[in-house]
Amino acid sequence: MQQKQNLVLIGGGHSHAIVLDLLSKISLGKTDLILISDVIKTPYSGMLPGHIAGYYTYDESHINLKKLADRAGAKLILDRAIGLDLKENKVLCKNGDRIDFDLLSIDIGSTPATISVPGAKEYAISIKPVPNFLAEWNRLLATLPNSLTIGIVGGGAGGVELALNAERRLHDRVENWQIHIFDRNERILTNHNQSVSKILSNILVKRGIKLHLLESVAEVTREGIICKSGLNVRCDRIFWVTQASAPDWIAKSGLITDSRGFILVKDTLQSLSHPHIFAAGDIATIQNNPRPKAGVFAVRQGRPLYENLVRRIAGKELKSYIPQQKYLSLIGTGKKSAIASRGSFAWESPLLWLWKDYLDRSFMNRFQ
Ligand SMILES: Cc1cc2nc3c(=O)[nH]c(=O)nc-3n(C[C@H](O)[C@H](O)[C@H](O)COP(=O)(O)OP(=O)(O)OC[C@H]3O[C@@H](n4cnc5c(N)ncnc54)[C@H](O)[C@@H]3O)c2cc1C
Repeated sequence: MQQKQNLVLIGGGHSHAIVLDLLSKISLGKTDLILISDVIKTPYSGMLPGHIAGYYTYDESHINLKKLADRAGAKLILDRAIGLDLKENKVLCKNGDRIDFDLLSIDIGSTPATISVPGAKEYAISIKPVPNFLAEWNRLLATLPNSLTIGIVGGGAGGVELALNAERRLHDRVENWQIHIFDRNERILTNHNQSVSKILSNILVKRGIKLHLLESVAEVTREGIICKSGLNVRCDRIFWVTQASAPDWIAKSGLITDSRGFILVKDTLQSLSHPHIFAAGDIATIQNNPRPKAGVFAVRQGRPLYENLVRRIAGKELKSYIPQQKYLSLIGTGKKSAIASRGSFAWESPLLWLWKDYLDRSFMNRFQ
């Protein structure tokens, strides 16, 4: 007979949103479901750039975790996990609570790599946590000056999408705007093929966004950005969109992690060191099949994570999940057009935006 037990989910990221949706369709018997989340509404990465451009409202681009938890019969604890006691099987929360678990799953995303550059913590705004970034973006939109210079540190998909969508929002509202992207690599979007970088670089130039490649930011001051090369650009706002990193409480808890502090998991999405702990999305690195930290993988891991959690509760053998080698990314250009990127293939078209919009809205509809 099944024992009474707690299945605790930390974070309402993309994978857990899907797990909750699927769990709402079945009964877990004697297993109590608990979701610990530091937000009630979590952003959907596919629509976040469109929200910055003003194409989607806040609610259209955010998943309501309270409604989802209610539907799945889960108790929502609005708090931030700050540690794990793996001897006692407890999640340590910021407000002092210690939540018991028998089975745990972690999907807390990532944040741009620690702002170790002098002055960055004080004067730059990190894109994550997204609620902090959006609060700053909305404050800026509410008090737009006649002249505004934005610096974006990081020329990956996130930084470039932010630049293009911010330009869309600002170009006819601010008389004198400038947007600068800084990246230490010799091309943008190094996770994608050369053609994608080329198409996007041309779009950036056409839209008047300045690209500073092979530039490492050495210091951030109240006045702007100083690069190692000596390049000095005055900025009114600086957004930080660099490589993903993991919070340090994960490694401190005793879970085996990769060299960057992400939880190392097997193909079953179980922790290498603790088989009763699962992880998915950006925070997990699948040891045998590592992939870039992207929302598309977090979404794909939702169903296999759900299946293995249910199998584990039922005492059944777990299934392996192998993420695709080549995957399709649809990158919005901020002007109702998008670029498809897959392996060495790249194509830009307004039709792709219509398709992306359809896919994103269909994805969000399942949570409404
Ligand atoms: C501007 C921008 C655009 C992007 N566009 C794309 C795109 O078009 N396509 C794509 O594939 N990827 C994109 N990405 C990357 C994408 O955002 C991430 O890969 C994706 O969000 C990861 O999903 P996740 O499920 O791991 O976690 P997240 O979606 O980050 O969710 C984590 C959740 O956990 C919560 N949380 C965090 N810490 C705690 C804690 N300690 N306790 C409790 N709750 C916690 C957070 O508040 C959040 O709700 C973009 C990123 C940025 C910055």
